[in-house]
Amino acid sequence: MGKAVLFSDFTIVTSHDDYSVSVLEHAYCVIFNDRIRYVGSSSDDAGKIVSEVSGNDYEVYDGKNKILCPTFANAHAHMSMSIFRNIADDYALNDWLFGEIIPREDKMIEGDFRYGHLLSIAEMIESGTACAANMYDGALITTPVSSEAGFRVQQTIMGKKCVDGKWSANEKDVDEFYAVCKNLNSDLIQGSLLVHSIYLYPEELYPALTELAQKYKLPISVHISETLVENENCMKQYGCSPVEKLNSFNMLTDTTVAAHCVHLNDADRSILSEKGVWVAHNPSSNMKLASGFADTMSMDKMSVRLCLGTDGAASNNNQDMFMEMRLAAFMAKGSTLDPTILPASKVFHMATRNGYLACGFSDCGIIEEGMKADIQIIDYDCPQMWPLGNPVSALVYSCGPKCVESVMINGDFVLYKHELTKIDLERVKAETKKTMERLR
Ligand SMILES: [Zn+2]
Repeated sequence: MGKAVLFSDFTIVTSHDDYSVSVLEHAYCVIFNDRIRYVGSSSDDAGKIVSEVSGNDYEVYDGKNKILCPTFANAHAHMSMSIFRNIADDYALNDWLFGEIIPREDKMIEGDFRYGHLLSIAEMIESGTACAANMYDGALITTPVSSEAGFRVQQTIMGKKCVDGKWSANEKDVDEFYAVCKNLNSDLIQGSLLVHSIYLYPEELYPALTELAQKYKLPISVHISETLVENENCMKQYGCSPVEKLNSFNMLTDTTVAAHCVHLNDADRSILSEKGVWVAHNPSSNMKLASGFADTMSMDKMSVRLCLGTDGAASNNNQDMFMEMRLAAFMAKGSTLDPTILPASKVFHMATRNGYLACGFSDCGIIEEGMKADIQIIDYDCPQMWPLGNPVSALVYSCGPKCVESVMINGDFVLYKHELTKIDLERVKAETKKTMERLR
């Protein structure tokens, strides 16, 4: 018999695919194994279903002053980079990336990938995130780590090699990644092909990467138009925008996740909309690196699909999706002088359902019967969230990581009443501290 939990008498908040958000008061939710089996207001129906599926062997989780809602899916992260937190701040992006980060990355060893990744998982789980698009090297190390920690991830694969200064696509990376996945036999893992940006590789590599992505049906993860400098250089080199150039390589599809998209014109937005590209908006990182304010209002008007990301802990400097929801809403309102732009319900949908879809997990991010059991329990019995008022506003504008009481991923509690169940956090902290001392 599998594991069953009856969540009893909760306020259940979820968005739906039509972008509506529903709030059910005094509601019940039954989880059995990895799936949601019941959501509704009938204690009798919930009791009957949980008894049936579990043979009366189940846990009752009491919902007094608690919200049950979907966990977040962080659509743009560089997880092992938590080892570079607070190590190089207040730089422009190019000076920061090429002068401070890449030289340190060149010295990373296996343990740095492993423990940096685990530190990010711990931070994400404690702040209500159950899934992330991890754009980073080290897939063969970090993929088993994600699986052991019970964390859902869309992991990038490098897929390229440089021999005697000549770059080419590398199928071996993809084959090795899939061999690891086959071994793990985990439905927590998806792959994607890492295409850093239009400015990092020679022109001839891009078509080879497109071919590789198509051959293996891999989504592409890419940074697009993060800074004005990127756009200016692209214009000088190629005579068009980064969106246009990547589109000319057939890299923009309905599975592509494009991070940032801060500096777009109407033609760019039109391409992103037409191709169904997922745009991962990163408000904190864009403001901290002074990249600018992504125009989410114009993207939204042109039906560009929006989700949210934190970017790496080296440029944020945390991975708290509550903060990103709040900043996304405030940035949109403040920069357009229109308080009705990006209401709480839309931002919540971006952080939950859209994030999961962007990461390739189509049966997650909504609290509905049949969906995967990725849920978080928010305790609103705290000054920060009291009195509750509108629960959606409370989640987006008032809530923070300390209100996250429990997190379940794929039906497993990975945070149970404020305790991480699968990660030895003290070990992770000790190892990552050593790394920072070595790479400082
Ligand atoms: Zn990034």
